[in-house]
Amino acid sequence: MPYLVREKLFIGDISDAAAILQNGSDEITHILSVLTSASISFFSEWRSSLTIPAKEIKKVYVGGDHVGAPDDDLGDISRSPLSPANLLYSLEYAGKDLKLVRMAVPLRDTENENLLDYLDVCLNFIDRSRKDGSVLVHCFAGVSRSAAIITAYLMRSEHLSQEDALHSLRQSCEFVCPNDGFLEQLKMFEEMGFKVDRSSSIYRRFRLRVLGKNYNSGARIDSSKLGADPGMPVSVASEVEGAPRARNNHSPTYRCKKCRRVVALKEHVVDHVPGEGDASSEWQKWRSDSLFNKCNEYECSSIFIEPLQWMKAVEEGASEGKLNCAHCDARLGNFNWFGIQCSCGSWISPAFQIHKCRVDASPI
Ligand SMILES: [Zn+2]
Ligand SMILES: [Zn+2]
Repeated sequence: MPYLVREKLFIGDISDAAAILQNGSDEITHILSVLTSASISFFSEWRSSLTIPAKEIKKVYVGGDHVGAPDDDLGDISRSPLSPANLLYSLEYAGKDLKLVRMAVPLRDTENENLLDYLDVCLNFIDRSRKDGSVLVHCFAGVSRSAAIITAYLMRSEHLSQEDALHSLRQSCEFVCPNDGFLEQLKMFEEMGFKVDRSSSIYRRFRLRVLGKNYNSGARIDSSKLGADPGMPVSVASEVEGAPRARNNHSPTYRCKKCRRVVALKEHVVDHVPGEGDASSEWQKWRSDSLFNKCNEYECSSIFIEPLQWMKAVEEGASEGKLNCAHCDARLGNFNWFGIQCSCGSWISPAFQIHKCRVDASPI
């Protein structure tokens, strides 16, 4: 049986959802299914085999390809360079007399899974469903994925910390336990002010880490996963990325010192706190003991950016290498999927490093 979390909000497992699809429910009108792609397909086959009616409303892909009506709650996700061909969600009417509205979102229950990119659509769906009726949020076991999404929902709607929201959810359903990777992302969600702010350095660092994990698990990093080349004419860059690019005229642009080609925009820089991280503690100690600790030499001598489409060596699949200017071939920096230590002592992983002395920062 589903557990009541708040008025008109239930958490459950896959058999709860199956029972509602099969028999209907007096109370539940909406279902949010958070399952692996394979389970989503299997669930559809199961439903067809019992001739439970269903009618597709639309399918939306992360790359921005819509099947059905255009969507209003995608936010910035259609510009995310992560896994562009993947399904973001599908929406359908289902059950007897097609009375239920069901959204299926593909998500695996692993620590490396990118939960953040699915939160907007899931939380907005829960919000709308509670206005129209009652919603069941379920995954396979009703323990990790559905709990992570409901925790995020309670955080956003009641402005609770991650710990307080999870504690409150456990009052209704004591065995819920989102995996550690999800808990970490919910913490980021809290730090970003209960929204997924894709321009924040928290999100940028997270996205780069996901890309690094994809690389380390053997996924091919093709140009679709790299950021658009800011040195390309805007019209071409738009076609490549599939979305028009808005440029902020006041933010600095980094240009190759030798030939002036644009290398990166401010928005591509992934900030780090100088001297942060465990790997730097020895270094920090040495610095504080050192006579030279006020010397500028120990400040960041590089910027670290997102991988961009002009980085041919990255696209060729190397794990580390040089970054040369795409126009004049001047050496600009290095990349390493495992990581590079900044001159300030911080360990950046993965790292796409541009030496400040090789570029000029200037307004456009
Ligand atoms: Zn150049
Ligand atoms: Zn640094």
